[in-house]
Amino acid sequence: MKIISTVKELQVQLKELRRSSLGFVPTMGALHKGHLSLVRNAISECPLIVVSIYVNPTQFNDREDLKRYPRPLKKDLAMLRKCLRKNDIVFTPDDNEMYPAEDKRIFSFGNIDNLMESLHRPGHFNGVAQIVSRFFEIILPNVAFFGLKDFQQVAVIKELIRQNQYKVKIAVCPVVREPDGLAMSSRNILLEPQVRKNAPVIFKTISEASEMIRKSDIPEIKAFVKKSIEKRAGFSVEYFEIVDDRELIPAGLKKEMEKGKRYYGCIAVRAKKIRLIDNIEFPLV
Ligand code: AMP
Repeated sequence: MKIISTVKELQVQLKELRRSSLGFVPTMGALHKGHLSLVRNAISECPLIVVSIYVNPTQFNDREDLKRYPRPLKKDLAMLRKCLRKNDIVFTPDDNEMYPAEDKRIFSFGNIDNLMESLHRPGHFNGVAQIVSRFFEIILPNVAFFGLKDFQQVAVIKELIRQNQYKVKIAVCPVVREPDGLAMSSRNILLEPQVRKNAPVIFKTISEASEMIRKSDIPEIKAFVKKSIEKRAGFSVEYFEIVDDRELIPAGLKKEMEKGKRYYGCIAVRAKKIRLIDNIEFPLV
């Protein structure tokens, strides 16, 4: 694999190496098996891929979160070395490379940026759109790989592509979990041992909730989710919404869930200082 940290060098290399289909996997590092599943999918689909490792400051609305975000670059590179091919590129730019001047662009994504993460992390998706659009314009990938773990982000990226007419296809990869069900996340290593021990309650609860929809209506399910998770010390539910995967319109009652659409229960939990998100598909009944 090649490690490149400047835009200029990246573009020189891509000019030479680009083949039929260029794959792109954006990450913020602190890699785990969830990231590696994206990388493996990219490798199986594309003869050349770029994996970026960059902690993008503009998508953090919480300074503390940015400060404590793990950055184990050496370990990340060792993991990637085991799966990348000779010409695949790891792009590790610094802030000056990504933002030579302050990025003042304001994006507007309508309803999909008006609920869930957007309410609890104001400006987050604007920052995501800034960095992803910059990457797309530098790299010009044919396919970009994103995880369904960040459910709302996938909808935002699809809208970003539509608005800007980027010629890139999106491949969405399923959530990879720890054996106890906790969705893998770079932030999991920041959990205190007792909090980590209790964290599987999140997936267990939304899994049960997705079964409950057969017999119960949404207000009852929401109450169950909140009660079940908040039984754990230090856990509080920021939101739990059942939304369709295109327009992200929340269903308040079962009868509002429309045939032909796919619905996901999306949750954010504050587990002491750390925020955890997860989601699961809800069947139409
Ligand atoms: P991040 O480094 O957190 O910005 O994530 C980079 C990419 O990896 C995003 O597209 C995430 O959705 C994806 N990702 C993170 N965690 C997981 C996971 N547990 N399973 C699948 N994809 C994931």
